[in-house]
Amino acid sequence: ATAVLVALIYNTMALDVLLLTLAVLSIGMLALRQFANMRHKLELLVAERARKLEEQTRELDRQATHDTLTGLYNRRYADESLVRQLGGGDRSRRHLTVALADIDLFKQINDLHSHATGDEVLRRVAAVLRGRCRPTDVIARYGGEEFLICLPNTELREARSLCEGLRTAVENANWAQLGLAAGVTISFGIAEHKADGSPDRLLGRADRLLYEAKNGGRNRVVA
Ligand code: GH3
Ligand code: MG
Ligand code: MG
Repeated sequence: ATAVLVALIYNTMALDVLLLTLAVLSIGMLALRQFANMRHKLELLVAERARKLEEQTRELDRQATHDTLTGLYNRRYADESLVRQLGGGDRSRRHLTVALADIDLFKQINDLHSHATGDEVLRRVAAVLRGRCRPTDVIARYGGEEFLICLPNTELREARSLCEGLRTAVENANWAQLGLAAGVTISFGIAEHKADGSPDRLLGRADRLLYEAKNGGRNRVVA
């Protein structure tokens, strides 16, 4: 097509005009190509920025809802999740049980070993809890060495047996590997939601039962 165009123009134009036209055309095409290249690069840049922004938003969301040390949910998320679960739907028919778990004599672990060892114990206990619960259970680091486990559609009996499993799994974990010859144990207080109860009352009951577990000698589940 270019050759035909050149031939046609050649017949009607003087050579110098033709050469000038060709030069202008070439420069125009080069400029267009440059523009296309620049546009492509800009599109790539915008896509990369959008991807980074999305990643940052996801990370911010994660930081707002998760505990940095253990990777579990944080207290704020757990509280909001409890309100959501107790607020919606048919409350009377739905079973929801919560367990408050607290590592026994954790202060001693920090004092006798190190804060870093204490941190590692927190991470490992968190991993045991996460590993043995269902994906729908909400497990949160609720305080320093305290965890809240929300068990939807779970009756008290079932929750007790689950927490017994968690308790023995913590007790039997390989603590010697961390230099903790005395091991690590954890106590649980478990309460089931009653139709007319609020999250605060539910947590209050679990907390009182946890206190009983501590008073009863620790390393136990009280429901
Ligand atoms: P109990 O069996 O009655 O629960 O005794 P305890 O020693 O576990 O309880 P206490 O409340 O006396 O001590 C909790 C300790 O947890 C004190 C605090 O320094 C430590 N702690 C809280 N948060 C962290 C943390 O993020 N990392 C570490 N290493 N220690 C923490
Ligand atoms: Mg404790
Ligand atoms: Mg505590």
